[in-house]
Amino acid sequence: MSLAGSLDRPPVTVHSTRSPDAPDLTLDDAILQGLAPDGGLYLPRFLPPLPEDWREATSLADLGVRVLAPWWGEAASEVAPLIEDALAFDTPLKPLSGDRWLLELFHGPTLSFKDVGARTMARLAGRALRARGGSVTVLVATSGDTGSAVADGFAGVPGVRVALLYPKGRVSEVQERQLIAARPGVRAFAVEGDFDACQRLVKQAFDDPDLRGLGLTSANSINVGRLLPQMLYYLWGGLQLRRDLGVEPAPYVVVPSGNLGNLTAGVMASLTGLDVHGFLAAHNANAFFPDVLAGRREPDDMPATLATLSNAMDVGAPSNFERLWFQFGRDVSQRIDGVSIDDDATLARMRLTYEEDGEFTCPHTAVGLEALERMRADHASVRDVPAMVLATAHPAKFDQAVERATGMQPPAAPALDALRDAPTRVEPLPADLSSLRDALVDGAWPN
Ligand SMILES: *Cc1c(COP(=O)(O)O)cnc(C)c1O
Repeated sequence: MSLAGSLDRPPVTVHSTRSPDAPDLTLDDAILQGLAPDGGLYLPRFLPPLPEDWREATSLADLGVRVLAPWWGEAASEVAPLIEDALAFDTPLKPLSGDRWLLELFHGPTLSFKDVGARTMARLAGRALRARGGSVTVLVATSGDTGSAVADGFAGVPGVRVALLYPKGRVSEVQERQLIAARPGVRAFAVEGDFDACQRLVKQAFDDPDLRGLGLTSANSINVGRLLPQMLYYLWGGLQLRRDLGVEPAPYVVVPSGNLGNLTAGVMASLTGLDVHGFLAAHNANAFFPDVLAGRREPDDMPATLATLSNAMDVGAPSNFERLWFQFGRDVSQRIDGVSIDDDATLARMRLTYEEDGEFTCPHTAVGLEALERMRADHASVRDVPAMVLATAHPAKFDQAVERATGMQPPAAPALDALRDAPTRVEPLPADLSSLRDALVDGAWPN
């Protein structure tokens, strides 16, 4: 592990997308705040170029120490072990036919790429709280993967409480088991309503003066603490491809997308110096971003959410669009391609990937693989380019979709089997603000 040569750089600071000329904040302040008070999202004021030695990294965690920790300036040596601990799991590249590689991001404890951001953010927020005292309550609306990654990442961090809101009866059985596993400092609420109702409650809670004392913050991908560590696996994938596998051409990077946090992190990695052929935003039927890129929709015309098989990407109005738009404006369509894939094509791609390559994929990853084939069919410029497709969740998390597509059960995941007998705790919640307020203010938080 090496921090050499980077400790003399000033720390990275951030500004809001809505008031770029206001004074900057520190990364720690931005992590504890989540959304900027003006409603904007925080972006780094400058992106430090990759350090000389980044190509010598031996793991994702090592990359975190070399590349990200120095963003904290003099505090890098305090932050480095936290990042190292957060990222201590595998992110292998798996070859498929047709010059394609899956970058498997689902070997963390809750089996989706969201572990990378959530675990890192939890440790960074814990450190920032220790330094300044006080406590925060992380309030998250989740349709599945975010909630479990955040609960797992933050459980037991001193000064942090977590409240998860999920739509009762609308998440998969596996996802629910992950959400309601009893964890210190974490409460799960089964909301009588859909995901949009959960999101609405969270928004109202943030605006509620009676809840100000709780120090509410968010841990979805609007938070820079989740976004920044996600840059690292793009670097790690690129490094494995070129250095370890000898694939010289820069890869076309395919990102199964919903709220566009993952893609934004990839674009930031390329701006720090990662060599890529381009990015493909692979969306399900929620096609806002592909429609904007194609000039079929205006950026301020955000549609309602549609329910699909790839439920972690069911986002009608992606929050991180604001970051991409701030950075590039209309030029965004020269940097990023976009494709929308429906459920039938997703299932067909899951089946084909099993038949051709013997690989089970989750529906989100299949959206990525199918979007890639569409682009290759229509555009010679990406046809003969090696592709790195982000595999965002373990197929066992979506066993019903896998079975529907292939007629087979995906391989078991030990982390899920262990949950089968774990103690659970869940509280029912009507979908109105006063019920949520009562629960948060009066309810007991488990130790
Ligand atoms: C959250 C999620 C996505 C979408 O990521 P965004 O950053 O919201 O674009 C894709 N796949 C899986 C499995 C997810 O959990």
